[in-house]
Order: sequence, then C-alpha cells, then structure tokens
Amino acid sequence: MTSDHTAPSPHSPDTILVGSGRPPRTPDAPLNPPLVLASPYAAGGEHEYGRLGSPVWEAFEEVLGALEGGRALAFASGMAAVNAVLDAVPDGGTVVAPRHAYNGVLTLLDRAAERGRVKAVTVDVADSAAVRDACAGASLLWLESPTNPALEVADIPAACAAAREHGCTVVVDNTFATPLLQRPLDLGADVVVHSASKYLAGHSDLVLGAVVTRDGALHDHVEAVRKTAGAIAGPFETWLALRGMRTLHLRMERAQANAAELAERLAAHPAVVRVRYPGLPGDPGHARATAQMDGYGAIVCPELADADAADALCAGVRLWAHATSLGGVESTLERRRRWSGEPESIPAGLVRLSVGVEHVDDLWADLAQALGG
Ligand SMILES: *Cc1c(COP(=O)(O)O)cnc(C)c1O
Repeated sequence: MTSDHTAPSPHSPDTILVGSGRPPRTPDAPLNPPLVLASPYAAGGEHEYGRLGSPVWEAFEEVLGALEGGRALAFASGMAAVNAVLDAVPDGGTVVAPRHAYNGVLTLLDRAAERGRVKAVTVDVADSAAVRDACAGASLLWLESPTNPALEVADIPAACAAAREHGCTVVVDNTFATPLLQRPLDLGADVVVHSASKYLAGHSDLVLGAVVTRDGALHDHVEAVRKTAGAIAGPFETWLALRGMRTLHLRMERAQANAAELAERLAAHPAVVRVRYPGLPGDPGHARATAQMDGYGAIVCPELADADAADALCAGVRLWAHATSLGGVESTLERRRRWSGEPESIPAGLVRLSVGVEHVDDLWADLAQALGG
C-alpha cells in the first residue's frame, strides 16, 4: 500500500471500491487489511506512533484517493477535516462560503471570524456571478454542491476558473455526491473534503472525515495539522468505513433510483408545496447537475406548508427513522430548521429525506400514510 495516489487508476470506480486498499497477495495474507490497534510501532519504520500514521488509514486513503484522483488523508470527523483545511487560510484571509453550507461549517467560520482569524463572506452558490465577484481578494472559496439541505447546485468549473484568476483556493465538500457522482478535482477544485460518516461508510455506525488534494503543499499542511492538532481517525472507525465503502456503488445505485422515484411522487402530492431534487427536470439545479455530475444523489427535500406539517410528517412515519445525518442504508428524515444553527432562509417546512436502499414501494407507502394521503 502506498500513500501516493497521483497516478490515475486504470480501473473503473466500482472496481477501485472493491479491489483497492488491500494487502499484497502473498500466501496466507488476509484479503482484507488487518485492523491494527497500536499506539507505538517498533522504531525505525514509517508509522512510529498512532497519531502520526496507521496502516488502516493508508488502506482507506488509497481507495478514496484513487476515486477522487488525489491524495487522501483520514480525519476523526468531517468537521476535523474541514478545520484542517481552514487552518491553511492565512491570518486575516477571506473565506467565501455558501450561505446554505452544512451548518457546522458555517458555525466554525463564524467563530473564526468573530475572533478575527479570518473574514467570512457568504454567497448563494447557485448565483455564479456572485460567486465570481466574491472571489476577488479572497483566499479560499468554500463550495458545497449540492448544498445541505437546500440542494442548490454551484457551477463548479465556472467557480474554479474565476477563483483561479484571483489566486483563490477552491474546496468542495463532496459529501452529498461522493466521488461516484462528482469528481471536483477533475472539475478544477484544489481540495475535496468529506464527511465519511455519511455515504462513504454508509451504515450510520461511525463518525469519520477526509481531505483529498493533488496539491503537495496543501497535503503537507493538512497532514501536519492532523499530526499536531491530533484530531485523528480511530483505526476501528476507519476500518469499518473501508468495509462500508466496498459496496458504495451498489448502495448509491439503489438509493438514487429510490430517490428519483420518491421525488416524482412527492412532487405530485397535494400536501407538498415543492420538492428540491436536482434530478427533477424542473429543478433549478437540474441542467448544471446534469453537466457536471454522473447522477443526482439520494437526498430529496420536500417542502411542506409549515413547520407543523413538517413535524407531523416526521412524527408520523414508521419505517423511516426520524433522525439527523444521512447517507446510511436506512432511510431517515428530519426537519432541518429544528436545529437552531440552521439559516433562517431555509424554509421552516423543509424536510430533508435521506433515501436508503429499502424497497421504494414500502418507503412511499410510509410517507403517504404520514402525509395523510
Ligand atoms: C455531516 C456533514 C459534515 C460534517 O461531518 P461530520 O462527520 O459530522 O463531522 C460536513 N459537511 C456535510 C455536507 C455534512 O453533511
């Protein structure tokens, strides 16, 4: 196993998911990477100590790096990965972020701005002219596309071209799409971050994050933050995440097919005001998503009349789980505005559905009974 993934893999993503990150096939070697639980390693090698390196991280990073086309670094959580990337912004530098980014990212940025570490500016990422204008003088453009939970789609190639003119680094949070549906480094971005807690691991049983980049200096900076700040991934979580990733393509295929079907049925339901899903031909992000993605993902956001109607849906489901987070095999839903940190421009009646891999008719029957139709 090597941690340098700059050479493109000759294999398709499905094959990388299944076959990469495995030990050499010497007689009696296990087919899977062993779960190594260690703080110190015998001196003189590459790892030395569990905060500095781990063979389990390397296996996970090999797979994710090959999928995204860069070098990956595992972190303790998506937020630890986000934090390590923000650490690379020079003191006083400006960070441009989506007004509807994941609320943990917005909170972290606000806190950094409050104490004068960085300047934070938010934009509507679907407004390419606003994104382009905001890049002038900025150090970092933070993109999330599709955004969580508004599902706005940024024109990633256009944003990267604008940022490049101003010497501004571009980060894409690729948690919703996964590298199977969107490869931001190929679209011109410098860095990708993931909450691997979601689709990559896929079974709602761990918290993990990752950073991927082709930029050697950025990679080294982020790795130095991991070593010194110490927000390192647990070997067991990393091992479980890699086990989950072996079936990412199968899970995503089913979840996405279910999501497309449910989005159409919801859009036709009288209790639903509107549905955001980039796969719907009438969705504002449809054309862009079609141009830059290989699929529309499995998050669907119906908007109901008000908070009460949305809460009633979440309380009325039996098969769906009322829970936060997303990307697991099981379908979950929540009203995002129940969180105080959620921007007020997110409609109070918006429910974020994370569509899982159950049978679509069972999922629909449960939603329909909870909607009262
Ligand atoms: C969940 C999430 C994060 C944060 O990741 P954690 O693993 O929970 O720390 C960041 N970005 C997006 C888009 C997310 O959905």
